[in-house]
Amino acid sequence: MFDIGVNLTSKKFLQDRSKVVQRARAVGVTGMVIIGSTLLDSRQAIVLAKEDVDYFFCTIGVHPHYAHTWSQAVLVELHKLREEPSVVAIGECGLDFHRSFSTEKEQIYAFQSQIELAVEFCLPIFLHCRNAHKCFMSILKPWLPQLQAVLLHCFTGTQAELESYLEYDISIGITGWVCDEQRGRELRKLISLIPAKRLLIETDAPWLLPKSLDPMPTSRRNEPCFLPHIINTIAVLRGEDMTELAKTTTLNARKFFHII
Ligand SMILES: [Zn+2]
Repeated sequence: MFDIGVNLTSKKFLQDRSKVVQRARAVGVTGMVIIGSTLLDSRQAIVLAKEDVDYFFCTIGVHPHYAHTWSQAVLVELHKLREEPSVVAIGECGLDFHRSFSTEKEQIYAFQSQIELAVEFCLPIFLHCRNAHKCFMSILKPWLPQLQAVLLHCFTGTQAELESYLEYDISIGITGWVCDEQRGRELRKLISLIPAKRLLIETDAPWLLPKSLDPMPTSRRNEPCFLPHIINTIAVLRGEDMTELAKTTTLNARKFFHII
């Protein structure tokens, strides 16, 4: 099992990060991608990844929430960070018009710049899109032929949105959102429409604690050790064998991020 999206630099993991990783290893998580959401965060992700170069990989980039921090200086720094062997993708970047912590203009600018960066570096791109599908696709589409590999992480959209991603061979990241019978109702119906080769699985920990965990952790914090629970839920919804699905999605992750 491979967790393609963990916010391991989060303050929520400050006290017990090594235990969190230990627990993930104990349940069979064989590797993870640490998400960079700001420049500082990307630097921290690289530092953490050095603790075990065969287990941790990371993305570098600026999340749409922090698009207001994007600048020429950030771009210069990202150029330097790219040299680090643990860096496997640009992102998390994209658009989030649901919670506009940065203006739409700032988000669009930072998104475009990071797409250009992914093309320049020949790296996969790790994308976030919420309540912005139309604008998101209109920016992304012209670049698709030049982008090496594209991942829409934490997909929670509509069938039409899913179909438009699949039409362009965009890989789809599924989180524990799928374990929520209410909020995830739409996603649960769509999960079988994703071709196996396009499916990637992530916890997005510490966020998005799977609603169906039993018992629920008292901390209410999500952890990569809950990845098997998410995979199991997806396997049941797709009518597939969990072990096979774990194998397939691990291979997908390694192939997508070029991790041998
Ligand atoms: Zn996201």
